[in-house]
Parts: sequence; structure tokens; C-alpha cells
Amino acid sequence: MLYDNIAVKDGRLFFAGSDTVKLAEKYGTPLYLMDEQKIRQNCRAYRTALESCACPGSYAVYASKACSFAGIYKIIAEEGLGADVVSPGEIFTAKKAGFPMERAYFQGNNKTDGDIAFAIDCGVGYFVCDNFEEIDALDRIAGEKGVKQKILLRVTPGIDPHTYDEVSTGKVDSKFGIAIETGQALEAVRLIMQKNNLVFEGIHCHVGSMVFDSDVFLRAADVMLGFVAEVKKVFDYQLKTLDLGGGYGVKYYQDQGEIDIPANIRQVAAHVAARSEDLGMPAPSLRLEPGRSIVADAGITLYTVGSVKKITGYKNYVSVDGGMTDNPRYALYGSRYTVYTANKAVFSDGITADLVGRCCESGDIIQPGVKFPADIGRGDTVAVLTTGAYNYSMASNYNRIPRPPIVILNRGGERIAVKRETLEDLVMNDL
Ligand SMILES: *Cc1c(COP(=O)(O)O)cnc(C)c1O
Repeated sequence: MLYDNIAVKDGRLFFAGSDTVKLAEKYGTPLYLMDEQKIRQNCRAYRTALESCACPGSYAVYASKACSFAGIYKIIAEEGLGADVVSPGEIFTAKKAGFPMERAYFQGNNKTDGDIAFAIDCGVGYFVCDNFEEIDALDRIAGEKGVKQKILLRVTPGIDPHTYDEVSTGKVDSKFGIAIETGQALEAVRLIMQKNNLVFEGIHCHVGSMVFDSDVFLRAADVMLGFVAEVKKVFDYQLKTLDLGGGYGVKYYQDQGEIDIPANIRQVAAHVAARSEDLGMPAPSLRLEPGRSIVADAGITLYTVGSVKKITGYKNYVSVDGGMTDNPRYALYGSRYTVYTANKAVFSDGITADLVGRCCESGDIIQPGVKFPADIGRGDTVAVLTTGAYNYSMASNYNRIPRPPIVILNRGGERIAVKRETLEDLVMNDL
């Protein structure tokens, strides 16, 4: 099994101890399921590793763009993590959920004046400043509000994490952050130093996503600590916080590589301590910003098959009642997934088919080349595993398809965390 919350009993797929076929009948499809205990375990893995090895005060910050709804901010808060937020929408959701906003980190490469004012009013603890204009605007607006705003500066360490271009952000020519290599990051520090309403806490980087190479964060830490030392030398100013961003990879299919996240965190923390000592400065307090690795394996999606099309001599299609509207990741990145036929999870006679959605769009493919039972047909339940990250949060209403609900499973019980959108919801803003 891909994960320990996945099981097959009597030919049926179980998730977090519950029969997925029964859940599909009860709540309808498409349906997102989330395993609360898995989310908590993932949070604790970060927390335990950081608390045991990193400088006191270090903690993980959940990148909530991976999956953002009120219920998740409550779980994250209970587990002691911070939260990355990237928009007024995420800030609003977190605040409404009662999230401790002093542990919120406002990310993004284009925060408008309106966004900045809203975030300050909501008590966002940290701004992760991305560019010169933002530094100016934030200082001005914080000044107008009489606030001393804590910030981290987002820099690009110039590291290519050997992943897909679309998800690599730490390179010098990234749209995010300010490059160290060109000297512009140091210029940004000079600008911050002139501001009266900013409290310069530390530096941030995010090298990319789906990182499996255990070396990536060590290399990033080296460059970042070098920059902390340079800031100290040039400005006689000791930065307290080092935020190394997110990006640990998770397993979507059986023969994929793996990374031992707690072991890597301990390695990174030890490395930061040793390098800081070499540089003759105190080790900074660490932040890591996992998104995917907190929620991906805590989610699956269920669909109902509508048609099976066998184009003789060519290929087969299994069409389900969702698609790129609830999971655009194959269409966007060619992402791979593990797929089960939930009510016929064990079979000997199989066919290979593309699992496709219901949208009017040929690119609406959830996963090509999937093995299904030969007798798959209308009414069968299909489960796509590891959909907890970047599925609900990337869902759209293309073709005016309502977004599916999220049902959270917890120790044999269940609750609806996000209601299914209705047709009335779709026309709510139409005048
Ligand atoms: C997306 C993002 C993350 C999370 O990345 P994952 O690959 O989901 O762990 C963390 N930090 C920043 C700044 C991001 O943009």
C-alpha cells in the first residue's frame, strides 16, 4: 500500500479505516476525503524533528495554499504550526478559523496596498517581503497605522533543486525574491535598514517543490547563512530567523523515490548549527514551510464512473463525474497518481484506460494509462490517492461545475468540513 491509511478489505478500498464505497454512497461524488490523524502525524513529524535538533523557538509553518479551508487552520493551530498565507482570502479564512495570526507569514510577489493594509489590520505576524516596491509600500502603510511590522526578506539563493521548471523557484532568475548573487539582495537590506516601521527579523527562501534530494536544503542553508554573515559584516546587524521554505516531496506512486523528512530536518538543523559556529554567530531560529508533505497523503478523491469507451485498436477511456475542475494537476504538470477502483479493488482481468473528467476539454485527463478491472462500468467508484495537496485549493468552476465537499475522517467518525457547492452558489454573484 502506498500509505498506512490505505487498505483493501473484501475487495473494497478503505481510507483512514473507513469503507470508501459507503462514503461515496452517503455523501455523493465527486468527494474529497481527508484523514485528520494523518495531518496531525505529519505536523508532529516536523515539530518533533525541529524541537529535538534546531535552535529553540524553531517551528514549521504550514503553506496553506496546499489546502486552505477553515477546518485545516484549526488543526494546524492545535499542532503548534504557523501558517503561510498568500492572499486576503487565505488571511480571512485563517482569521475566521481563530488562527493565531501572530504566527501567520504573508507571502507573495505582488501584495497590493489593499492587501498590505488588510493583512496589518488582521494582525499578520510576518510579511515575507519580495521586492523593493513592497518594502517601500509596507513601511509607508505600517507607518500610517502606527505599527512596527516584522518582516523576513525573500531572497533567491541560486539553487536549482533538480525538479520541474514550473515548481522551481530558488534560481537566480525566479519571479520570486531578490537575488543574492547580483548584489540586489544586499541593496534590499540597505533599503530596509533605512525604514522606521519595519523590524527586520530574518531571511527567507523557497527553492522549489517535490524535493527528494537530501542535499538541497543543506546547500540552501549554506548560501543563506553566508548572507546572514554578510549582513552582519556590512550592517553590524544580526538576523534572528532563517526560513528555508517548503518543498519536501511526497510519494504519489509505488516506484517513486522517497525522502526521510525528519532525518533530513535533523541533518539540516545540525548543519545550520555547525555552519553558524564556523561563521562566529549564533544559530538562527529555523522555519520550514511544508505544504504538500502535511496534507497530500491525508487526502483522496472519490468519483463515480459514467462511461467506459473502448476505441477499438486505439485506446480506452473511463469517464468520471469530476475532472480537471477538482484536480488540475495532470493537466498542469503531468502529475502522476495511484488510482483504485474502490468497489473492485482486487481483480485479475484488467484493461488499461485513461481516467478522464467530464469537462468540455480534451486536456481534461486525471491520469492516463490506468489499470482498471475489465468489467469496470457505469456506477463503479474510482479513488485517486494522495490528492490532499493542490487539489481542492486549485479547484475551479469551469463548465459551471460545483466544487466537491471535503469530509474529514477521524478515528472512525466523520464530519463535513466544506459543504458541496450548490447550483445556487454558482449564480450567487450573477446580477
Ligand atoms: C508553495 C510554497 C511552499 C510549500 O511548498 P510545498 O512543496 O507544498 O511543500 C512553501 N513556501 C512557499 C513560499 C511556497 O510558495
